Amino acid sequence: MTDNPSEPVRCIVVGGSLVGLSAAIALSRVGFDVTVTERSPAPVTESGGGLGVDVALLADATGITADPPVLHGTDRDGTAWHLLQGWLEDHATRLSGIRVRRGTEVSGVQPGGQALSATVSTARGDILEADLVIGADGARSTVRRAVDPEHPDAHYAGVLLWRALVDEDDLSRGVALPRAGEPAREVYAGPYRLVTYPVPGPAGETAVGSRRLNLVWYDPQQRQLLLQAGLLDGEIVRGSLAPGTLPDPVRQRLADFAAATWPSPWREALRLALDGGMVFGTPLVHYKPARLAMGRVALAGDAAHAASPMVGGGFRQGLYDVLALTQALAGAATGELPARLTSYQEARLAAAIRHVTRSEQATAAYLAHAAHR
Ligand SMILES: Cc1cc2nc3c(=O)[nH]c(=O)nc-3n(C[C@H](O)[C@H](O)[C@H](O)COP(=O)(O)OP(=O)(O)OC[C@H]3O[C@@H](n4cnc5c(N)ncnc54)[C@H](O)[C@@H]3O)c2cc1C
Repeated sequence: MTDNPSEPVRCIVVGGSLVGLSAAIALSRVGFDVTVTERSPAPVTESGGGLGVDVALLADATGITADPPVLHGTDRDGTAWHLLQGWLEDHATRLSGIRVRRGTEVSGVQPGGQALSATVSTARGDILEADLVIGADGARSTVRRAVDPEHPDAHYAGVLLWRALVDEDDLSRGVALPRAGEPAREVYAGPYRLVTYPVPGPAGETAVGSRRLNLVWYDPQQRQLLLQAGLLDGEIVRGSLAPGTLPDPVRQRLADFAAATWPSPWREALRLALDGGMVFGTPLVHYKPARLAMGRVALAGDAAHAASPMVGGGFRQGLYDVLALTQALAGAATGELPARLTSYQEARLAAAIRHVTRSEQATAAYLAHAAHR
């Protein structure tokens, strides 16, 4: 560790997804030397779902003025996760102060202190030293154990999200597609909730007919499936249901319900996705933080606060984290970093708690409604 002001702060960001890359770009712009450690060996080019993006906030947090790959809608600017992740990674790798180390899974973090560096251990047995560690490793964060060892786990919120992205191009010609700019739809039937909106096509196409249809189907009846698949350990979620792993009876039940109930073109899209093994299942989790920083380590994004998309804005909250981190850390000497991270925690903790509380209340209301259907 050095307190020489001419040496850049050495920062490791754990997690190379939307928030980790945004944080890496923002911190490199204030002069930090950033290594992003991402466990996936290669960028994902196809899978993942859709999300809404606040384009102005993204530009504010990252300083990137180029247009991100979004489909501008009347109620939201929507994108597919893999398009935005790839776009951010392209920007990050073009900046000289950032290295992205893929295929590097972090297994543990020591938080360090005012006169002691933090250390990051990798699953391969490397020990990396850093002045600062940002845990942007998602809702099932490993870094959280270093920040709040008493309270490290997110808990199942009681809802599984069935998700798919379907190329409009693959739908039969007779199926009417959503018009350009048509707002997102939200449909309730039985215990289920379906949220739908188009996002850009596989290479960012925005013309009607070349986009993708994004579907999110809220299902409160799959606890048993998650237990059987070994994805639920008490209330702790251990993974997601990958595309192509739906048991046949579940796939058939969803297909029958979709065909009978969901409106066109979403039922046709679901049929294609279910037949093609493209539907994947994301268990919803909640994590309400009691702290966001410890020593030289801080949490950002879903690692810091995991909530349901029902209350919107998980990524938006992650961008607020990035803005607050950059503001707290800019110009800091290495010895000042623990105190600056305490300022970050003061700036963001109450808002993060409010966001997750809103999500818990909305999810409880949805589950109460679903129980009577
Ligand atoms: C259906 C749905 C719809 C949504 N819609 C919206 C929306 O409209 N607007 C919005 O703002 N938000 C939305 N969100 C929320 C948003 O998607 C998330 O808040 C955001 O993607 C979180 O990003 P993240 O970078 O914090 O975490 P993640 O995207 O989970 O990334 C974590 C990264 O860390 C890596 N990683 C994990 N563990 C390790 C490890 N041990 N070592 C190294 N790497 C590791 C993972 O591989 C991954 O790349 C939605 C979420 C869902 C599920």
